[in-house]
Amino acid sequence: MAAESFDTVIVGGGQAGLATGHHLKKQARSFVILDASERVGDPWRKRWDSLRLYSPASYDGLPGLRFPAKRTSYPTAHEMADYLEAYAAHFELPVRSAGRVPTTGHDALVELIVTPDRGIGCRVARGPRPRGEIHWAD
Ligand SMILES: Cc1cc2nc3c(=O)[nH]c(=O)nc-3n(C[C@H](O)[C@H](O)[C@H](O)COP(=O)(O)OP(=O)(O)OC[C@H]3O[C@@H](n4cnc5c(N)ncnc54)[C@H](O)[C@@H]3O)c2cc1C
Repeated sequence: MAAESFDTVIVGGGQAGLATGHHLKKQARSFVILDASERVGDPWRKRWDSLRLYSPASYDGLPGLRFPAKRTSYPTAHEMADYLEAYAAHFELPVRSAGRVPTTGHDALVELIVTPDRGIGCRVARGPRPRGEIHWAD
């Protein structure tokens, strides 16, 4: 498998990751968004069916694409999920369903490694070991 290199790796394709991706895309940066979910918006799809946002649609949009609902309405969790998925598609954001990236608190992430056999690992710099050690996802 050919190695890939990105200037920025965003862990998590929720509101924050997608909005950040949108700005990086506008600046033609090299980046990828890794998310544990199969589909963008899945955390919202998995919440209870009757859930509605407490903020009205006029405040629920991300940069560059308004939420497609009456401005004073309160969207459901499923509408939010579909909006996030549509947002990623609209701006052609490079979101990859990659499993849970092993995060390690405040250690500095040096390198993210994706292999066909062991899945995802990340090399973190810690203490006196400049090359750090690799933590593998479960
Ligand atoms: C029940 C509920 C109702 C809410 N209602 C509102 C509302 O009405 N209005 C409002 O403004 N806010 C609301 N919020 C708050 C809002 O959901 C959060 O502020 C917002 O989702 C934060 O966005 P985020 O991108 O930081 O995180 P998230 O939306 O949580 O997204 C994180 C993403 O990262 C992925 N991820 C996390 N860890 C990893 C990992 N290690 N590896 C790979 N992927 C990973 C997850 O799969 C997820 O897709 C609500 C929250 C909840 C729980």
